[in-house]
Amino acid sequence: MQVYADNAATTRMSAAAIGAMMPCFEEFYGNPSSLHSIGQQAKEVLEDARSRMAALLGCEPREIYFTSGGSEADNQAIISAARLGARKGKKHIISTAFEHHAVLHTLNRLEKEGFEITLLDVKEGHNITAAQVKDAIREDTCLVTTMYANNEIGSILPIPEIGAICKEAGVPFHTDAVQAVGHIAINVKEQNIDMLSLSAHKFHGPKGVGALYCRRGLMLTNLIDGGAQERGKRAGTENLPGICGMVAALEEAVAHLEENAAKVTAMRDRLITGLSQIPHCALNGDAVNRLPGNVSFCFEGIEGESLLLLLDMYGISASSGSACTSGDLDPSHVLLAIGRVHDVAHGSLRLSLSHYNTDAEIDHILASVPAVVEQLRGMSPVWRDLQIGKRTYIL
Ligand SMILES: *Cc1c(COP(=O)(O)O)cnc(C)c1O
Repeated sequence: MQVYADNAATTRMSAAAIGAMMPCFEEFYGNPSSLHSIGQQAKEVLEDARSRMAALLGCEPREIYFTSGGSEADNQAIISAARLGARKGKKHIISTAFEHHAVLHTLNRLEKEGFEITLLDVKEGHNITAAQVKDAIREDTCLVTTMYANNEIGSILPIPEIGAICKEAGVPFHTDAVQAVGHIAINVKEQNIDMLSLSAHKFHGPKGVGALYCRRGLMLTNLIDGGAQERGKRAGTENLPGICGMVAALEEAVAHLEENAAKVTAMRDRLITGLSQIPHCALNGDAVNRLPGNVSFCFEGIEGESLLLLLDMYGISASSGSACTSGDLDPSHVLLAIGRVHDVAHGSLRLSLSHYNTDAEIDHILASVPAVVEQLRGMSPVWRDLQIGKRTYIL
């Protein structure tokens, strides 16, 4: 049995998304900037997609900027707010310790340019509170940027509350909603969001396309200079097939949001209950405010990479927070940020589900993971030391 349980990394495309792309290759292949009718037809398709995306997020079409994905949208939102702030002498930015690298590395770059960055602590409840944001805001704060939901441990942040606080303080608020869009109900106006990043391939759309919502009145800085596409804020011929696939995927996801969330949450909870029976393990992430599809555990005495390789032999595609696979010996910054010590953080497993998963697949995971953990512990010198009392259990 093949079980794909790595939907936080990327998702398979929906038939609707693939179907929506095809006419862009065969019929609407014109350049939307061309003045002839083939070009103008493509332009109409593009603007129709923009209107539909705006309706799905609760904003105006002119507040949508299409990008190459979530990383680009994050970079542009943060750099724009920083440039705007610097002009007013405001160079303080608030974020969290468990952001995606697209946010953290952008903030690192700004820090080198003289910005001061406050990363809110996420140890308590594996989440932040709106009160933490309120306490951190200063006279010179030019941006609050917090993710909507965490990609590794699934915690959903109190976004509407943070938005309300930022609005009252007059500080622009950006959220990296890449893990939330298509999975959680979002309305940018109701939730007081000034800027929002999203990426199609996290909700069964194509890779390499995303969007940045930016509230009218907030000035964007362009990262790419060139033509006047996207109201002059993002040069380059539009990825029309990608944009059409993205909008179709999001329309489908939003239309079935509650039903999919109910199905996926039930599978998630079966996994969490079942895997919690494994001795010396711990659930990562907010137990209550949690993405429907996220299951994240640390198992003491094993290495995440070995766990993944063995699970792959059982047909299960999963992920681990430890980054040894990418040649980096440090465990995930997210697991360290929630307070997991290095040894424990190395033994992590993330299973991320979608509505394409089935109950039979969940049964297969529930049968396989405990067996694989036991097999690895049987070969682990660390586990032997724990059992004979030469080391003490942390979990
Ligand atoms: C995947 C992801 C990104 C990056 O999106 P890309 O479209 O792959 O660039 C950013 N933030 C979060 C939370 C993500 O999960």
